Amino acid sequence: MTLRKPRSRLKTAVASTVLAALLVARPGPGLAQDQGVSIIRDTEIEEILHKDADPVFVAAGLDPQAVVIHIIADKELNAFSTGGQQLFLNTGLIMEAKTPNQLVGVIAHETGHIAGGHIARSGAAGRAALGPMLVGIGLGVLAALAGAPDAAASLVFSSTYFGQLSVLGYSREQESRADQAAATYLEKAGLSGRGLVDFFNNFRYQEVFDDEKKYPFFRDHPLTDDRIGALATRVEQQPHYGAQDSSGSIDRHALMRAKLEGFLSGPGQTLADYPETDQSFPARYARAIALYRQTETEPALKAIDALIADQPDDPYLWELKGQVLFEAGRAKEAEPAHRRSVELKPGAPLLRVNLGQTLIAVGDPAKLDEAIDQIHRALGLEPDNALGWRLLAEAYDGKNEPGLARLAAAEQNFYLGQLLEARTFAVHAREMLKKDSPEWRRATDIILASRPSPAQLKELGVTG
Ligand SMILES: [Zn+2]
Repeated sequence: MTLRKPRSRLKTAVASTVLAALLVARPGPGLAQDQGVSIIRDTEIEEILHKDADPVFVAAGLDPQAVVIHIIADKELNAFSTGGQQLFLNTGLIMEAKTPNQLVGVIAHETGHIAGGHIARSGAAGRAALGPMLVGIGLGVLAALAGAPDAAASLVFSSTYFGQLSVLGYSREQESRADQAAATYLEKAGLSGRGLVDFFNNFRYQEVFDDEKKYPFFRDHPLTDDRIGALATRVEQQPHYGAQDSSGSIDRHALMRAKLEGFLSGPGQTLADYPETDQSFPARYARAIALYRQTETEPALKAIDALIADQPDDPYLWELKGQVLFEAGRAKEAEPAHRRSVELKPGAPLLRVNLGQTLIAVGDPAKLDEAIDQIHRALGLEPDNALGWRLLAEAYDGKNEPGLARLAAAEQNFYLGQLLEARTFAVHAREMLKKDSPEWRRATDIILASRPSPAQLKELGVTG
């Protein structure tokens, strides 16, 4: 099984230099003797996680929109939090949480670390390591790259990298405070604390393992009988201890797990776990994704169309349909599907990026203006979307706007944390853009933000 790599259409030699430079760009330190893991982006899954977690964030006094939930494509069981209210969940943990209440319990525990300021212990080094370079990759793109290591795979992070971020080794006292805080938040949100206790009990056996055999989560958050006992006693006393997961949240949880399995496990595994006899929506969804990953385009499209017939207003089904068509090299047919997903979910930047990418790939110069508009709107909502900037560079290249293309490339590198490359593109952009225009000034800002030495600034003729 080989899936196609994402295409990019290069019209001119200039374009290929710009894009080649972009594609060899690598995020962050220490890439990859190990297999590497990616941060994955998926509007549907992010929405599901927020729907379940936001009441807990609110109960903790946090602004749910300020908490960033990152999903790491890694089978290891782990969750951790870092400065800037960033919460990281491994897909392994999401898959191991058997109920929404278990998952939200773990999230509440991590929220306890965030709200309690326990992450401060990781110090400046941890925050600096994070920087602006945590660039996610679409689930579909990730699947398309499976077994096809190429330049775009540079968006894959070394798993050691996350390992270093997560090894904080909370003290026992911090662990128990986070547990107690979790119980408080869950109660306040009208949820039971039982799931967290169940989750810990499921992994109680890990307690007797040596550290290296334990899941990372239980290395950093050591389980003990006392700890589980104290938590259980507390949550059993809460008025909402008996609260059940709503049917809506059970359905969303099942859908999320099916989607993750479809994209991240081998298609054979997915088809075995979700056999034809299972006609539930999540099972049909997982099978459609597995077919797509086997490059069985027609059966995949048929399966997706059947799902759309049942749920015509589901933006993510249209997104998936667009993606299958796009990856099959059928950009023209992908366009209306992506357009429908944007109509159904206009506030979702990733869906607009998909549409913009498709409009570029259609290869009709008349569509480039709309591509630029769509990507700009996405970037207005999510300025650090590096893929959006890369596509914008491509679109401006197609429009023969070399200054704007280079500025977009500078932005892309800037948000990847590659300041030197960002500066190089910004310097070229500045030479081509109209002096004192907003774009020219933005290029200047990027140069200044790239931490040049005074001598370099002088050489460039840039003054603050
Ligand atoms: Zn903890």
